[in-house]
Amino acid sequence: MTAPLKDFSKLSIHTITTKPWALEEAVRHYSAAGVKGITVWRQALEGRDVKASGQMIRDHGLTITALCRGGFFPSTTPEGRASAIDENRRCIDEAAALGAPMVVLVCGAIPGLSLFESRKQITDGLAVLAPHAAAAGVKLAIEPLHPMYADDRSAVNTIGQARAMCNELRSPWVGIAVDVYHVWWDDRLEQEIAACGREKTLFGFHICDWRTPTTDLLNDRGLMGEGCIPIRQIRGWVEQAGFTGFNEVEIFSHRHWAGDQHEFLQSIQHAYLDRS
Ligand code: ZN
Repeated sequence: MTAPLKDFSKLSIHTITTKPWALEEAVRHYSAAGVKGITVWRQALEGRDVKASGQMIRDHGLTITALCRGGFFPSTTPEGRASAIDENRRCIDEAAALGAPMVVLVCGAIPGLSLFESRKQITDGLAVLAPHAAAAGVKLAIEPLHPMYADDRSAVNTIGQARAMCNELRSPWVGIAVDVYHVWWDDRLEQEIAACGREKTLFGFHICDWRTPTTDLLNDRGLMGEGCIPIRQIRGWVEQAGFTGFNEVEIFSHRHWAGDQHEFLQSIQHAYLDRS
């Protein structure tokens, strides 16, 4: 049985989780609450000097865990695929300027384009980007998405598929972000996480919960404990696989965004200790 988390030394929060807060507010309030990490979403950087934002975050004692997000590689045209590569290069450069060690990738899918073809385009895109990522010192983390997003968000829907890409690419700069929301249902989850550990591709770990019923495919994620995901058990598997990074809280929720964000932050911290 995995022991409860005792403190916030490994707690990171995605800025999108408290979307109503501007980056500066999120940083101030996370820091004041004793949160130690932050994953920055690109939209939170809009209109800001990226380098200065990174410094501001570090000045508040927060570790930047990742920049979200790159990806969306597949396209029905060569121009589309090339422009996706360019955009991902910019994203990697932004992560380097921010001081983020990693970019999280939502790899993309196109309705009408086969998943097989999409995965091939994703792998090809990653092969082109890996040297750029290495030069920038920024890792690329493929995030497998729940199969309900296989139509238009990601053709990578299991850790097994992400591992197949990593094994083909064999770059120490390409790995996997495991998000419990997307993979909790996988009957091979424990073995797949262990394999990521052996293959040294376990780059990130995201937590939240799956609500029943889920009323919105994207923006009805639950706070840890509000749903049916065995988060602590999965965290145990991740830790057994050798992962020592942050537990990143990533919750998109119209319901939680509509409430008081200070209260929500408190709830996150309680749920982190009691239910994660
Ligand atoms: Zn995630």
